[in-house]
Amino acid sequence: MRAFGYSPATDPGTAVRLASQPDTTYIAGGTDLLNLMRDGSENHHHLVDINRLELADVTADDDGVHIGGLARMRQVAEDPRVLQRFAVVSQSLLASASPQVRNMASIGGNLLQRTRCGYFRDAGSACNKRVPGSGCPAIEGENRIHAILGTSDHCIATHPSDLAVALTALDATVHVLGPSGARRIPIADFYLPPGDTPQVENALRYGELITGVDLPSRLQDPLSRYLKLRDRATFEFAVVSVAAVLRVRGGRVQDVRLAFGGVGTKPWRSAEVEATLRGHRLTLERVSEAGRVLVRDAVPREGNEFKVELVQRALAGVLSELGGIR
Ligand code: SF4
Repeated sequence: MRAFGYSPATDPGTAVRLASQPDTTYIAGGTDLLNLMRDGSENHHHLVDINRLELADVTADDDGVHIGGLARMRQVAEDPRVLQRFAVVSQSLLASASPQVRNMASIGGNLLQRTRCGYFRDAGSACNKRVPGSGCPAIEGENRIHAILGTSDHCIATHPSDLAVALTALDATVHVLGPSGARRIPIADFYLPPGDTPQVENALRYGELITGVDLPSRLQDPLSRYLKLRDRATFEFAVVSVAAVLRVRGGRVQDVRLAFGGVGTKPWRSAEVEATLRGHRLTLERVSEAGRVLVRDAVPREGNEFKVELVQRALAGVLSELGGIR
């Protein structure tokens, strides 16, 4: 690991000013960043420690729940207001990482964790995301964990955050503070597909800090579920995941929000899939049709072709459970 400078910040304005300097970034829990710096996948000359900022509270009102950017994963997963009103968020967090990491990792850091693509994490490999223009060995190489939706000729990596998938289903809003002031970014606009600039992963501008996330209370008494399929039951990233928020009245789907992890280059949401279900009775045929719509534009590679069927099965399983389909 290269030597780096370190500055603790005690207020958000100072943190933003310090982090606006070249080759500088924020550190909170450090559970992903320090691994990346140790392995040489990321190099920063200076870190701004934001752990002392007062951004760790979870608050609630009639409009929803606000989660501070420095709230810890465990704290949010166990918060009774999150559990009661946004169970899918709690489930996504409890399905993530180890208890030790959940104690350390912040919500903002979770949303900004980097891809698990092995070529990205190996500083000796070519990788367009790490070194733009160097190539993407995953396209013809080891691509079992990679994306089948939203890919480009330059990158096929997935985003690893389970929480981001749940937030995408909930239409969450990300609050940020930067050198130009505060702004809010809908989660649907926060993550960017790779296109020909895979090194640009999200809508944050240089020096911007995630100060919080809003979970809006849009659906009354929804059913919700986060299903994560992975290679082992503990401490593993999703091969495929589904976040579902559903309201059924009179046997029909009144509203539905679905997001998928492990299959897209960003947490994946499809208006067409939801339209296939909205207003209809939840039947096996209807659910199967939604699955076919989901993978209609999939571009699988040699190692991840199995995800085309697996994600349809995962969707069917979640909707069957929530809708009581037998
Ligand atoms: Fe790099 Fe993306 Fe290709 Fe992985 S899939 S090697 S992150 S460019």
